[in-house]
Amino acid sequence: MQVTFYGVRGSCPSPGAEFIKYGGNTACVHVELDDGTDIILDAGTGIKNLGQKLIKKTNDIHLLLTHNHWDHIQGFPFFAPIYQAGRNIYITPGQTTLAENDAILRQMSGSYFPVDYTTLKSHINIIAKPVDITSWQIGSARICRLPMNHPGSGSSFSIEENGKKIAYITDNELYPPYKKSTDFLDWVEFARDADLIIHDAQYMLADMPHKAGWGHSVAEEAVKLAMGSRAKRMALYSHDPVRTDDEILAIEKHCQEIIEIVDAKLVLFAAAEGLSLSL
Ligand SMILES: [Zn+2]
Repeated sequence: MQVTFYGVRGSCPSPGAEFIKYGGNTACVHVELDDGTDIILDAGTGIKNLGQKLIKKTNDIHLLLTHNHWDHIQGFPFFAPIYQAGRNIYITPGQTTLAENDAILRQMSGSYFPVDYTTLKSHINIIAKPVDITSWQIGSARICRLPMNHPGSGSSFSIEENGKKIAYITDNELYPPYKKSTDFLDWVEFARDADLIIHDAQYMLADMPHKAGWGHSVAEEAVKLAMGSRAKRMALYSHDPVRTDDEILAIEKHCQEIIEIVDAKLVLFAAAEGLSLSL
C-alpha cells in the first residue's frame, strides 16, 4: 500500500506563508493498493491536486467519505476525474445522523455551484451500505468502519491489505461531553496493531474546555490511543486551521516526548501535504 497525504487541515483551508510546511488543504488521503486499486479517504480541497494525478488513468476510483461537513466534500467539484467521460467513481458515504447520502453531489446544484452534478460525464455511484454492514471488500483490501464521535456522526475506516493496516480516524472526539457512539477501548481494538493510524489531533489541552463538544480530539489523547493500540506509526491529522507551521512542529515534538517518557515503540509525525509512505 502507498499512502499519500493531499490535505491534512481540519475545518477550513489555510493558505499563506505560515502554513507551507504542513499545507493548507482540507482532508484527503490517497491509498493505492498493491493491486493498483485507488481508494480516496475524504474529498476536502486536497482532492483537487490528487485529481490531476488520477486524470491520467482510467481505472475505477473508490471514495470513502467520513461525513459531509464542508472540509470533507468541498474539493469534489474540482476533482478532475468527475468530468472524465465514462470514468467510474464509487462513493461510500459516511453513516451520518441525517442520512443525506448524496450531499457531496448536491453541493453541485442550485445556488452553490455553476456546474450541476446531473451533467457530469463520469459514472458516479453512491454505495450506501446497510447500517449493520461494518466490513466489506474493495479490490484486494478489507475495509472496516466504526461510528465517529462527532456532531452529526459519521464513519471512520480501516483498510487492510496483504498484512498491512491503516486506521483513518478523523473528526473524532475521543472523550466527548455528549453521548458517544464509540468508546475509547473500542477505538483501541479498531486500530489494533495498525501499521499507520491517522487520527484527529486538532486541539491541545489549552483549547479546552472552550472547544469541548466541537468534535475533535486533543493531541495527547490521540497519542494515548495510538500507544494503546500498539500501532507502529501515527500521523497527527486535521490540524487546526489557525495552527502555524511552528505551532504544529511544537505539538509534534511535545507528543514525541510523551512517547519517549513511556518508552513506547511508536513513530509519530504530524501529517503534511505531499508526504507519502509505503507500507
Ligand atoms: Zn466534521
